[in-house]
Amino acid sequence: MVAWCALWGYRSVPLHVSPKLAIPALSSLAAGACWLRVVVRHRERLVWALFATGSSCYAAGWVILFHLSADQSMGLAGLNLSDSVSLLMYPTWLAALLLSTRARFRTRADRAGVDGAVVALAVGAVSLSVFAAIVPGAFRSSWIDAVYAAAYPIGSAVLLVTALTLLAVLRLRVRTVWSLLPVAFAVMFAGEALFARRAAAGGISFGTSLDMLYLAGPVLVSVAAWQAAGPAQRRQTTSSGTMLLTAVATLSALGVLVLRTPGTPALATGLAACAVVAAVVRTALFITQEQLLAVRTTEALTDPLTGLANRRALLDRLAGAASGTAEGSVEAACTLAIVDLERFKSVNESLGRGAGDELLRRLADRLSHAVPADALLARLGGDEFALLLPCTVAEAAVEAARLREVIGQPFDVNGHELRLGSSWGLTSTSAAAEGSESLRQADVALYAAKQDDQGVQLWTSDLDDAGRELLRLISDLRAALQEDDQLLVHLQPKCHPATGQILALEALVRWQHPVLGLIFPDRLLPAATAAGLLPELTLRVLDLALAGVVSLRAAGHDVPVAVNVTAPDLLDPRFASRVAQTLDRHHLTTASLRLEVTETVVLHNPAQVVRTLRLLSSIGIGLSLDDYGTGLASLTYLRDLPIDELKIDRSFVTHYLTDATSRIITDSTLELAHNLGLTVVAEGIEDRETGQALAQAGCDLLQGYWCGRPAAVHTLVALLEEAEAADAAPVPAPRRSAAPDVLVAVRD
Ligand code: C2E
Ligand code: CA
Ligand code: CA
Repeated sequence: MVAWCALWGYRSVPLHVSPKLAIPALSSLAAGACWLRVVVRHRERLVWALFATGSSCYAAGWVILFHLSADQSMGLAGLNLSDSVSLLMYPTWLAALLLSTRARFRTRADRAGVDGAVVALAVGAVSLSVFAAIVPGAFRSSWIDAVYAAAYPIGSAVLLVTALTLLAVLRLRVRTVWSLLPVAFAVMFAGEALFARRAAAGGISFGTSLDMLYLAGPVLVSVAAWQAAGPAQRRQTTSSGTMLLTAVATLSALGVLVLRTPGTPALATGLAACAVVAAVVRTALFITQEQLLAVRTTEALTDPLTGLANRRALLDRLAGAASGTAEGSVEAACTLAIVDLERFKSVNESLGRGAGDELLRRLADRLSHAVPADALLARLGGDEFALLLPCTVAEAAVEAARLREVIGQPFDVNGHELRLGSSWGLTSTSAAAEGSESLRQADVALYAAKQDDQGVQLWTSDLDDAGRELLRLISDLRAALQEDDQLLVHLQPKCHPATGQILALEALVRWQHPVLGLIFPDRLLPAATAAGLLPELTLRVLDLALAGVVSLRAAGHDVPVAVNVTAPDLLDPRFASRVAQTLDRHHLTTASLRLEVTETVVLHNPAQVVRTLRLLSSIGIGLSLDDYGTGLASLTYLRDLPIDELKIDRSFVTHYLTDATSRIITDSTLELAHNLGLTVVAEGIEDRETGQALAQAGCDLLQGYWCGRPAAVHTLVALLEEAEAADAAPVPAPRRSAAPDVLVAVRD
């Protein structure tokens, strides 16, 4: 405000104050005010120091003009000191303007800088040409004088255009400083242009109201310096706006070059040429940045290991598919499939992560060649893939079955032949509004597929409730595995067929859920399977079972226990050593343990499974083939497997007395097994008649409710005590357990 008053006073009383005093004083005052702001305020100090430096140069120019010797020649081709110093203001201010921009647009600073240069050079070239046209005499004198004459208005014009560019093209929210600066430059430009015109006409005079116009520049800049409260905020950069402005500037510069007349000053031509060069640089920069951006965008949507699309790319495509269906476009039928690999973890664990990665890459490669061209194949992470197929769910199910076979073909990784299984969950994307909902549905279907070992499962709304329950069960199971009181084993006796003596036990898992009550394997195992928690569960059961053996020993009964193991357990090459460690921990030998496997386990991955089984057998652990007769395997398997016990499945045993086929199968199995030197267990014996018939047929051990229900260790101890007491008396062969699987009496 002080500056404004001074300016106003100067204009009102021109006759009383000499311009030789007033002009340097006023410009110095403006520079001083700007410097004061630099000292007082911290924000954007460098920017305003540059503005203050520019103002100081301007003021110094006036002081030199009016108060130093008349001969200001610098002795160099007609350069004069006053103008040379004054003119330093323009580049300094331009630098200040660009610097303030840089702080705000750090990311695009380089391109914005080159844009600014193109525009500034073009404005310089155009305004110099225009100047030459409207001030015809200007360039007739010496070249350097003409430059001095033109430099002021052109400098102001460049500042004005730059400030407007920043204001308009970069769409700054207009704050005081950003609206005041263009005004300052505009007023200055008007003053300088009029002054130059008057000078060219032959008369330079000071002390007119024209002084006020060009002095308004530094004055308004120092006002802006004090009013610059906060940074101007960027709304959005409009690259199209910047491009348009740069294009117009480039064309204008080309215009100057093309329409060049003899009167066009060489400097204008030079500036125009520089503008064009800068525009070329700008374009090159633009292309590189766009390429970089394209690479980054691609990277953001790509899985780095396999080069397939990633989850984000899939969600993008799902969003596209969803909006397509919403608009009723033709691409309505889309199916999302989520694919989970079976037995992949064991590859990672047994052969190392490197082999696992290699396998994933091979699989990705194989699948990308196998999927239809219009499908999107993505890797969601780990061993989970997704496939978006532009077809109905029914068609996709056929495709999925085909691709399962493609996945199932063996891979050769580091000399190992590896086979992968896969589970597929499918859903129609039109059934869900959101991509994430489609993913959820496909996930639910996938869980169902894994649970039932079905391979491919389509999502239906019915699955959702089951899926929700399963998800809850899985998360509870994870927690239960961390606790030590929820998972239990009940032990079921395997008895001597004649004496009923308990010769062995089988550990059967139970889960005492805090809310849902006692959960049996039929609910627990599918959840553990779907969540990949089977190996952890097996180790827990092993631990509990061996603890049971120790408890029974403490009570004077040395009975071995059998634990059921699954394919994921046997696929882990460390399984045998873990079993050995657990035995050690309980101070038991391998004689106290037996493992039961089903035929399907052996079918999964013969090589690794057989390796683990041999290892287990070599350390002295007995192995039973469970549920014999239900699978596809024949006894030929037994030739290759270190099995020493065979358990005839309940389905044959139950009907042994009533169904001739069951009887024939059981009898011939017994004979064959005995010939192979195996112990035979008949399981699921519920009544005395069946028990006695099978004892007669030659079964070595009987297992079933008639002989004893699965029961907790303490119940079993009581049972054994009771049996011992009874042993004193004549033996009533086989005994039923007094307290059968107490908590499960209804079900069992
Ligand atoms: P399994 O190995 O064939 O075990 C025998 C199943 O038959 C047990 O059911 C047992 O309670 C039941 N059972 C025994 N005698 C009779 C009978 O006379 N009549 C009838 N109707 N059933 C009888 P459970 O405990 O529900 O186990 C079912 C299956 O779950 C087991 O079949 C086994 O394959 C699996 N399983 C149980 N515990 C574990 C475990 O700790 N780990 C693993 N991996 N699987 C387990
Ligand atoms: Ca079993
Ligand atoms: Ca069985």
